[in-house]
Amino acid sequence: MKIISNPSPSKWEKLSERPMIKQQKLMKTVDKVFYDIHRKGDKAVLSYSRRYDFPDQESFIVSSETIDEAAKLVSERLKQSIELARKNIEVFHRSQIEEAVKVETAPGVVCWRESRPIERVGIYVPGGTAPLFSTVLMLAVPAMIAGCSEIVLCTPPDKEGKIDPAILYTAKLAGVTKVFALGGIQAIGAMTFGTETVPKVYKIFGPGNQYVMAAKRSSQYYGVAIDMPAGPSEVLIIADQTCNPSFVAADLLSQAEHGPDSQVILLSCNKKVIKEVNKEIDNHLVALPRQDIAIQALKNSKAILFKDIEDCIAFSNLYAPEHLILAVENPSLVSREVINAGSVFLGNWSCESAGDYASGTNHTLPTSGFAKSFSGVSLDSFIKKITFQQISEEGIRSIGNAVETMAEAEKLYAHKNAMTLRQGLLAEKLITN
Ligand code: NAD
Repeated sequence: MKIISNPSPSKWEKLSERPMIKQQKLMKTVDKVFYDIHRKGDKAVLSYSRRYDFPDQESFIVSSETIDEAAKLVSERLKQSIELARKNIEVFHRSQIEEAVKVETAPGVVCWRESRPIERVGIYVPGGTAPLFSTVLMLAVPAMIAGCSEIVLCTPPDKEGKIDPAILYTAKLAGVTKVFALGGIQAIGAMTFGTETVPKVYKIFGPGNQYVMAAKRSSQYYGVAIDMPAGPSEVLIIADQTCNPSFVAADLLSQAEHGPDSQVILLSCNKKVIKEVNKEIDNHLVALPRQDIAIQALKNSKAILFKDIEDCIAFSNLYAPEHLILAVENPSLVSREVINAGSVFLGNWSCESAGDYASGTNHTLPTSGFAKSFSGVSLDSFIKKITFQQISEEGIRSIGNAVETMAEAEKLYAHKNAMTLRQGLLAEKLITN
């Protein structure tokens, strides 16, 4: 990894940039694919799927028989691990259920919020280079807890036109209702517009490469909500002399192996730590089957030497990493200074891959600096919170005059009337009684 020493704050912004494909070209491709899918439905979806993923694809519908068969192809050991992860994810996400709180804002005026599920959700499971069945759990489990009635899953077909059995097995376990062998822009386009076979959804979830991310952003123009811009994975590690350099190297590589456009960043105020971690990266790399991808990602990555831990934290907050690991002496203390990050891992034992799979937190997190304004996926992502209010006669007396006065000042006389009529009836009742 390239080492940068004590960069001046004027260079920090530039150093926090992510590797990006030229957006203009990307959006042009998305527009074209979306246009065709909107007009030609399934026919266009299949044609793009053949072009980008599997040239001999005949259908992208995954039958329930294929889904049932998948269970036989998944080992018992993997099934047990998936079950452990599912349970922890369920426990953590169930703890996010909020009870409605009724508040009397003024005498006779009661307001509250209630959660309702988003009825139809689409979940994208990346599959270009790795079958991320863990993403199925991360998205379908909270969707099920929220009560979403239709959970549509799209994931790209592999080189043989198939979907990894672990994805199908997990989909069934987690309550997915329909599965399609579709990836990239065509998957997002199909769920955005709906086709003869793919249902139109109200919100699309899931990570993916830059094509997926660009398509998700475009789907918003067509009235479909998205969870967040979750693109190429990234990790930033702040490490001091108390870190285990081998652990740090392994954690950096665990994100570097995601994709050639991933980025990993090491920050330290200790030159020796940076050198040791770099050495460990070389040691680990040789044994990695995905070393080509990791090597590409490492080219986008850097180790930065800062003068003190305060600067490390300040840079991290500007970078706003998807994952932040604090491999430092007092991680709890340092974590108090964290303002922007998707998910934080405290201390040498909290490896990021635990959060990717089985600790219970969600691994669908904002990337590319979006952690400045977006949260990761949670139960809240699958629900809408509807406000309710009930106003009694006493309530009309409490706020009626204020409403009338404000409506009149805004020159909205129908608004005023709605209150005046009620106040009039109350006045009449008072006289009759
Ligand atoms: P993917 O499923 O995201 O993308 C594969 C699809 O890209 C293919 O189906 C294909 O249709 C499309 N595609 C590829 N080349 C194209 C081209 N030239 N033109 C148009 N479309 C093209 O799988 P992936 O590529 O393996 O990427 C997974 C991504 O997800 C990685 O970047 C990884 O870092 C990221 N990820 C992010 C998170 C998160 O929470 N942010 C979590 C896990 C993975």
